[in-house]
Amino acid sequence: MEEQIADYVVVGGGLAGCVVASRLSQNDKSVILLEAGPDASSNPTTAFFLTGLSLQGGELDYAYSSEPVPTTADRAGFEETLPTTTSGPSWPPMSAGANLQEHGFDGPMYVTSIAGAEGGQRKYPHRETVLKAWAELGVSHNVDMKDGASVGVNEIHENCDSEGKRQPSNVVYPLDKANVLTNLPVHRVIFDGTNRATGVELVDGRKVTARKEVILSAGAYQTPKILMLSGVGPSAQLAEHGIHLVHESPYVGQNLHDHYAIHLAYRLRDPSLGYAFGGTGFQHPAFFKGLPWDWIANHPLPEDILTKNKNETRAGWEKRNVYKVGTAYVVPGIPGIPVDGTHISTSTMLLLPTSRGTVTIRSSSPADLPRIQPNYLSTQHDRDALVHGTRTAMRLLTATENLKAVVEGESPPVKEGLEWLEPLTVDASDEVILDRLQRTGEQHQHSGGTAAMGKVVDAEGKVFGVTGLRVADASIVPVPLGGHPQASLYAMAEQLANMILADS
Ligand SMILES: Cc1cc2nc3c(=O)[nH]c(=O)nc-3n(C[C@H](O)[C@H](O)[C@H](O)COP(=O)(O)OP(=O)(O)OC[C@H]3O[C@@H](n4cnc5c(N)ncnc54)[C@H](O)[C@@H]3O)c2cc1C
Repeated sequence: MEEQIADYVVVGGGLAGCVVASRLSQNDKSVILLEAGPDASSNPTTAFFLTGLSLQGGELDYAYSSEPVPTTADRAGFEETLPTTTSGPSWPPMSAGANLQEHGFDGPMYVTSIAGAEGGQRKYPHRETVLKAWAELGVSHNVDMKDGASVGVNEIHENCDSEGKRQPSNVVYPLDKANVLTNLPVHRVIFDGTNRATGVELVDGRKVTARKEVILSAGAYQTPKILMLSGVGPSAQLAEHGIHLVHESPYVGQNLHDHYAIHLAYRLRDPSLGYAFGGTGFQHPAFFKGLPWDWIANHPLPEDILTKNKNETRAGWEKRNVYKVGTAYVVPGIPGIPVDGTHISTSTMLLLPTSRGTVTIRSSSPADLPRIQPNYLSTQHDRDALVHGTRTAMRLLTATENLKAVVEGESPPVKEGLEWLEPLTVDASDEVILDRLQRTGEQHQHSGGTAAMGKVVDAEGKVFGVTGLRVADASIVPVPLGGHPQASLYAMAEQLANMILADS
């Protein structure tokens, strides 16, 4: 590699890094984008949601393992993130009755509701049944999510094109004017004597110079690691590993948040009716575009749980979407449950946890993966909220007139060491549900917060205490997002790109 120099050096070609590199380079700024992983854009397995699931644990997966988590039965969770996964949308087909003013139509990314996909063909057999079951529980369809208020039943939206192909940011955001260099992991940021970032050092020792700014977009695990390896972080930890302190920043790697969740499988009374993926009757070609699901219901907590945990919650949470229940016509890899059309499933996810974890370094070597301690369910609020959410899912699937006609009961995971698990019922005690959550729940690759805005960076992503260095990725999101993160991260990356352009 010849000596590389550009005005802006972006580290990490994931969701946010590609947006920033694209927006800057399309505005005639010189940009180098450095990505640790390979260019996976022509790998056909990455193109579709269902094939993409097979990438987990493979060569495109970092497969981070967390430390054992005392509050989830001492299990070490796998934190799978795909290098170059990369995921200003436009929102054309949507639910009937949607207010067009609430949607954009000229962004680079095509976003579709499930019902609007495939010319309206992708309507799963139980679409209306699930909606009616929610209505039985008093939860109604929120068509527009006006002003971002998502409490109620929401239609799932996917960012796939008219052929059902995923639209990661490296595909949708043009990078033809950026100098994209793959298979080049970055070790650290280089500073001059005035704490100004002047470029980066690669793991192989070569250097890349930034005339104006270095922008870290290496994700919630790697960005804090790079900051610490560069001398920006908690001084005691840096001293322990013999790293020269550039700026004492105690919150780097603190405040890790993620969405802990549980998948439950429900046995169908009559699998021959073709209600679930893998069965013979589930055959319409449109059903195989994207994931077979259609609704997510977002919920606030009941007053008694909020009152009990008032020291942990914030004003206004009585109206916030603290947890969600999604229904799917496929079983997402629950041990021992076959994907053969016999089961449908729910995903119950804690959207606004109050537990926080940490990301630290193991050594001064860039080769060592970061040490991750997520501390899921370490607060009473989180345990109460997710137990309540899981019971809501059980109630929906097994105790509403609409769905109990379809579902026989819950099938617990079948796994060595967990042979004694009994099927959950709507009347299960809180202790039994919590135990299931702790033993079989998992995180959702929605991590963020480890270089939090207000603590590590300012409102424009500029790292406190140094100059010429910004962070633009999920690390800067200071509190958990009340939904799957992609849409907000795209909006944030677009905003940060505009701020960088304004500064230039
Ligand atoms: C399997 C999976 C499924 C998901 N599904 C959904 C979903 O359905 N909906 C949703 O909203 N969100 C989903 N997410 C979450 C979403 O993908 C993340 O929130 C988002 O990608 C975070 O964006 P980011 O820019 O912060 O980091 P990333 O997109 O993770 O980008 C970080 C990039 O930096 C690179 N990198 C890391 N270290 C270095 C280094 N030292 N040098 C150079 N490059 C480096 C990485 O290889 C990666 O490409 C999913 C995530 C995963 C892993």
